[in-house]
Amino acid sequence: MDQYRLPRVLVFPLPAQGPVNSMLKLAELLTLQGLHVTFLNTPSIHHRLLLHTDVQARFSDYPGFLFKTISDGLPQDHPRSGDSVMEVIRSINTNSKSIFKHMLASDELGSESSPSVTCMIVDGIFGGFATDVAEELQIPIIHFRTLSACCIWVNMSIPNVIEAGELPIRGNEDMDRLIKTAPGMESFLRCRDLPSFCRVSDVQTDPNLQVFVQQTLQSPRAQAIILNTFEDLEGPILSHIRTLCPKIYSIGPLHEHHKLRLAKKEASQFSNSLFEEDRSCMAWLDAQPSKSVIYVSFGSITVITRDQLIEFWYGLVNSKARFLWVARPDLVAGEGQIPAELLEETRERGYIVGWAPQEDVLGHKAVGGFLTHSGWNSTLESIVAGVPMICWPYFADQQVNSRFVSEVWKLGMDMKDVCDRKVVERMVNDLMVERKEEFQKVAEEMSTLAMTSLHEGGSSYSNLDLLIEDISNGRLGRQ
Ligand code: UDP
Repeated sequence: MDQYRLPRVLVFPLPAQGPVNSMLKLAELLTLQGLHVTFLNTPSIHHRLLLHTDVQARFSDYPGFLFKTISDGLPQDHPRSGDSVMEVIRSINTNSKSIFKHMLASDELGSESSPSVTCMIVDGIFGGFATDVAEELQIPIIHFRTLSACCIWVNMSIPNVIEAGELPIRGNEDMDRLIKTAPGMESFLRCRDLPSFCRVSDVQTDPNLQVFVQQTLQSPRAQAIILNTFEDLEGPILSHIRTLCPKIYSIGPLHEHHKLRLAKKEASQFSNSLFEEDRSCMAWLDAQPSKSVIYVSFGSITVITRDQLIEFWYGLVNSKARFLWVARPDLVAGEGQIPAELLEETRERGYIVGWAPQEDVLGHKAVGGFLTHSGWNSTLESIVAGVPMICWPYFADQQVNSRFVSEVWKLGMDMKDVCDRKVVERMVNDLMVERKEEFQKVAEEMSTLAMTSLHEGGSSYSNLDLLIEDISNGRLGRQ
């Protein structure tokens, strides 16, 4: 085949661990099918990837694969971790349009054999400016939403929720009040389950809420949407989204999809971590009884206070369960002493690492529960592994995800808005002992559905094939 006729796909993720991880996996899946791919990172994320992984060597095996970088428009020493990710997103949305357009128009993102980008897959959080550029240069664009479909649908409904006077949340609000104007969720979505950015007094101008909602409303402008989910999990919600965006490729859970298709090529699993992984926890897990350990991780962005740390820690220690805890170096804001009794009891039943190989941890037979911040990638990884969850959402989509985990999918419990050692202890006991079989059964069933969707004939498997075909044949028309 004439190389010049090969399509080149640009993949441009939101610069944070979850989206970079899942979009790099998609990039590799496209590459495996012979597509030429350019992966566009911010310099700081690319630097961290190079520092902690072997991506450079790994992707150098693929002809036509390129890593490129684009500035996020912030000074080099500007904070980018924790909540600062929202500033990075806002800065890219404000500052990057002209450089992005220039890079595409000047063929800077291509190689000699496939110089021009013929299709873009861009994180939907950049849907506005990237779609403007796509339209100006007449390049088909697909929005990849790395959030749950349920949160996307809530975002799409927020203008109606505001219009109906159900937002803003006022002082002394009953946070358990049901929201009636998010179709399909009328019977269970409470005020407290709305995305965290809704907890502001000025819903018309708050910058984070604006980014979150306005960018989602750009989705119908794209030729198609990619979602990291599967039909048996979010089918009813996907039907709602399809009323606005008919062309959706649901291809998740992407991490497992990647693993399965790569296995066919005799490749093993690789890390896309932006932090240094501490694999010593795997040997510790090997020494623990089956399903006895609760894995505790709040993802790559969450920041907790010293008091919250101590509450979680006492709750875990008092529950008498074994636990493996990811305490990132930047997890806790503020200094303080750790009570000696906590350290002592942790030595007996607990293990702490700075960053874990999470997919491997969740797949380990010793792990029987996950205390999670309900990030979408963590939620999917837990579902695939058949591990029930205790949810303690921190921000953004996590408030919605945790409600679905507990109330709709019945895969665990939701602890949102509470951080108290007694509640932690009780929930850990429920998950790991009292209601263990009940949760385990549902989790195993959902895991089976997830795996079925990823095998030949399954919905995610077929949708990925279709996506690749549509890109390869230039069949991405209007939605
Ligand atoms: N993760 C990991 N090791 C850890 C904690 C997290 O590899 O110790 C990975 C996890 O597997 C997931 C990602 O980091 O793929 C976190 O993404 P998620 O969407 O759950 O949360 P975020 O970090 O975006 O809040």
